[in-house]
Amino acid sequence: MKHVELAAWLEEHKEALIAPGGEGEVSDRALVELVLETARTGRAGRLDAAMRQTARQAVAQEIPLDRVSRQPRRLKEALWKTLKQASLSPAQALVLIEAAEPIFARLSQVAAQAYFEATQQMQDALASEIVRLHTEAERRVMDRTAELTRANIELSKLEQAKTDFISIAAHELKTPLTLIQGYANMLVELDLEANGSSGAAHTLAGIIRGIERLSAIVEDMLDVSVIDTNALSLRIESVSLQQVVGLVVSQNAQHFKDRKLGMQVGDLSGLPRIEADRRRLHQALGQLVNNAIRYTPDGGQVFIEGRVLPGHQPGLEDPVEGGGFVELTLRDTGIGIAPEDRERIFEKFYRVGKSTLHSSGKVKFKGAGPGLGLPIARGLVEAHGGRLWAESPGHDEVNCPGSIFHLVLPVRARPKPGITVTWAELPGQGQEEAE
Ligand code: ADP
Repeated sequence: MKHVELAAWLEEHKEALIAPGGEGEVSDRALVELVLETARTGRAGRLDAAMRQTARQAVAQEIPLDRVSRQPRRLKEALWKTLKQASLSPAQALVLIEAAEPIFARLSQVAAQAYFEATQQMQDALASEIVRLHTEAERRVMDRTAELTRANIELSKLEQAKTDFISIAAHELKTPLTLIQGYANMLVELDLEANGSSGAAHTLAGIIRGIERLSAIVEDMLDVSVIDTNALSLRIESVSLQQVVGLVVSQNAQHFKDRKLGMQVGDLSGLPRIEADRRRLHQALGQLVNNAIRYTPDGGQVFIEGRVLPGHQPGLEDPVEGGGFVELTLRDTGIGIAPEDRERIFEKFYRVGKSTLHSSGKVKFKGAGPGLGLPIARGLVEAHGGRLWAESPGHDEVNCPGSIFHLVLPVRARPKPGITVTWAELPGQGQEEAE
């Protein structure tokens, strides 16, 4: 009966109990109505549902539990205040309090429980979203990795096909070329026997120049394929860099003269002899000098300098038993190299600018070849355990900023793994080789 009395009393005083509701709260009027209904019917179903709804909304809006429970607390306080002010006997007041107290206790309990349930649900949803995102990210990484692997396989297949093609083409070209060369030489001899009366000497000289040029290209193709397949072999001996540089310079003396280029070689006498393949070193240096001639306009300068490098060199392992490294630098006052081309010029068949602009002249200004010179030079230097790279402020055919090629070599031979090496007798191991 206590409920019935509470319901009657609430009905009578409900306007005094209603206060304006706040954000994330059941309106006070609705709450008073629901408490009243619970008191009247003895069933708290609708009151529970309303509190649950409020708690869930509060969690969604990140409103703290404290604010959710504030509203029933305020209603309870308002009820007690009104009770105190009413002229009730203690017995009557006690009846009402006893009926109201469990309703408020239940309200707090339902609100707290619903709040924690909603928090838990939200955390679960967040956790599964994180798991989903993580799985998605992993799947994407796997897809990308697979794509990259496929692309890499394709690339190495292409690279292999390129190497195979160069090798096959070079070998196929070499045989007929040797034949043509032989017949051309026979014709020269016939012409000589006839004391030049055939009048073909000039034509023959042209044919022979063409053959020599073609042979050089075929030789380059063969070298590239040997380097690419790591099938290079080096004959290591004690080499004086001063002598190799001297030889290359003297062999190009006429070209420097023809092109009105100055050639200055620094003092290389202080450089130690190095363990290297003399012929291959001469080839690499010859290429760099030839490039300096071709990419420097008439009247320019080419400088060669050398020094012993102190300590460890980045990108190079310390040679066995020390020995250090030596560096040769080739500087020219030529057209220079753009930053984006500085590494690409070491790729096979890479040439800067339009290939149609290039002539085939061996020492003509900008008379480019097939773009194999630098890859071969780098391949030869790296086979020795050294490094070759270019530096330049940029490409400018008018102001000619110039280029510098750095060639670093170990003093004690440290050939690249896989390279076939034969050792000539080195000084200290027996008789010294004559230069
Ligand atoms: P190429 O047969 O075309 O000369 P290389 O491999 O020797 O082939 O050189 C590749 C490219 O690098 C050249 O086409 C040229 O553009 C650039 N290059 C090489 N040496 C120099 C240099 N000393 N100055 C400016 N550019 C150079």
